[in-house]
Parts: sequence; structure tokens; C-alpha cells
Amino acid sequence: MSIDSDKCVGYGDCVKSCVYVVLEIIDNIAYPVKLENCKGCKDCSQECEAEAIKIVHI
Ligand code: SF4
Repeated sequence: MSIDSDKCVGYGDCVKSCVYVVLEIIDNIAYPVKLENCKGCKDCSQECEAEAIKIVHI
């Protein structure tokens, strides 16, 4: 997965949606701090109103 920091506005909906605790908001931008835990389920990208998250590979 990747996060477009130009689009991210730090709502945090992605963080709440990820049961694998991959994401964290740091200085109002989401970061995949535990990317190794990502399952590619797309829950975060579906919750992101800013369309800042792309799932590029699992
Ligand atoms: S794709 Fe799924 S597992 Fe990966 S960061 Fe998003 S919600 Fe979490």
C-alpha cells in the first residue's frame, strides 16, 4: 500500500479501519508504520474520503 501525502488530510479514518494496526497519524499525515502487517484488504482505502491510499501490492 502507499499513501499520497499530498492528498492525505489526516482524518484518521484509515487508522480506525485497520484491525492490523498498520497505520498511524503523525503530524496530520497517515503513515504505514507497520507495513509488514498489511494484508492488502483495502479497508483503509475504502474509508479514505481523500482517496489518498492506494493498494499497490500485498
Ligand atoms: S490494506 Fe487492510 S491491512 Fe493493509 S493497511 Fe489497509 S486496512 Fe490495514
